[in-house]
Amino acid sequence: MKASPMKASPMKASPMKATSTSPGSSSKVIPLAHLNPYQSKWTIRARVSNKSSIRTWSNSRGEGKLFSFEIVDESGEIKITAFNNEVDKFFSLVEQGKVYFITKATLKVANKQYTTLKNDYEMTLHAQSSIVPCDDSQDIPAVHCDFVPIAELENRDKDAVIDVIGVCKSADDVSRITTKNSREVSKRALNLIDTTGKVVTVTVWGEEAEKFDGSRHPVVAIKGARLSDYGGRSLSASFSSTVLVNPDLPEAFSLRAWYDQGGYAIDSQSLTETRSVGSGARTNWKTLSDVKNEKLGHGEKADYFSCLATLLYIRKENCLYQACPSADCNKKVVDQQNGLYRCEKCNREFPNFKYRLLLSANLADFGDNQWVTCFQETAEVLLGHSAETLGQLRDTDETAFDEVFQRTNFTTHIFRNRVKLETYNDESRVKVTVMEVQPLDHREYSRRLLGNIRKLAG
Ligand SMILES: [Zn+2]
Repeated sequence: MKASPMKASPMKASPMKATSTSPGSSSKVIPLAHLNPYQSKWTIRARVSNKSSIRTWSNSRGEGKLFSFEIVDESGEIKITAFNNEVDKFFSLVEQGKVYFITKATLKVANKQYTTLKNDYEMTLHAQSSIVPCDDSQDIPAVHCDFVPIAELENRDKDAVIDVIGVCKSADDVSRITTKNSREVSKRALNLIDTTGKVVTVTVWGEEAEKFDGSRHPVVAIKGARLSDYGGRSLSASFSSTVLVNPDLPEAFSLRAWYDQGGYAIDSQSLTETRSVGSGARTNWKTLSDVKNEKLGHGEKADYFSCLATLLYIRKENCLYQACPSADCNKKVVDQQNGLYRCEKCNREFPNFKYRLLLSANLADFGDNQWVTCFQETAEVLLGHSAETLGQLRDTDETAFDEVFQRTNFTTHIFRNRVKLETYNDESRVKVTVMEVQPLDHREYSRRLLGNIRKLAG
């Protein structure tokens, strides 16, 4: 049955014979931020920004159903939950995006575990509650966001729930992972940039991840993302987050203009260390002389930069070591000279070991050179062989082993690096570790150079 909203509303229970433009005279409309549990006569006028589906529960105390929705006005936002009878009464009436007058509901202190809204209270509907559609609703915002500038995320606490808005500079392909309770879920990482020039990686999940199209660099606003300190600073949307693509917000329009008029070409810096290969999140471009002149890595935290460089020299001496064969342990083993290899970390002896790569290499670009360290994965990419193959080659065919290194010298790649000043025995030196090696994409590289030229000319 497709009842009109007015008929579906619970007017009989309410003393207020409301019309759709006025909720009656018994209480005046107040901003929802002014609501508190000690006040009983009030009416609010707000837009539904989010609505859940109906969930059911069943436990020793019985069974039931509920749904919840979130509303906003100019002053703030609040979560409303309806149970059982109120689900029947209001579920079909409440529509996402529409504006309603709401009166008579119970206010209680919000359970922050289940909501990310910025309100100390939440509401529960009861038998006398009334929800009446409001037609004149243009002045009510669609969503209430307190956007945090991306550069500001470095100063926020881990696990903080924040609203963020940025232009999607690049996005990973969607991937599927299996959760702890063996459910399959889609995920996708988006790299958002704002006018602070900083980039943060935001992971979105499920349908949001599947349908997302980053090819035209949309503006993305995420309300209620959780801040993590995993790999620098990153954000994750959760089931209660709202992901808005090209939202109808003033912040979105000004970001769009900023990006299109030159923001796309700025040398941005990512707060998130990217581990995934092919992420396209190569930011903070530096030349090797920049790394020295700008004293990268001298701060409290490590810096990350990307560079285009050529391998001048790879030290093949000591580039392979015998490591503990257990799955997550890469500790160097001690050859006991009796066919057994001892791992101090696992406190065990093994009849075998696995080869690991630890490569020291000298990179150069047009202006300078830099010694860097490559661990297993990046070293395997550079040399084009697995550590295991190289270990066997070294033991059986030294000429072929040498050739692998000869072929790798003077090849050019994009290196994404971590740089940090490290002190050892009172001696400080800058240590550069390669996090990721990628082939040079000439088209993208030329586009970036053109952007830089344009910036210098303008
Ligand atoms: Zn071990």
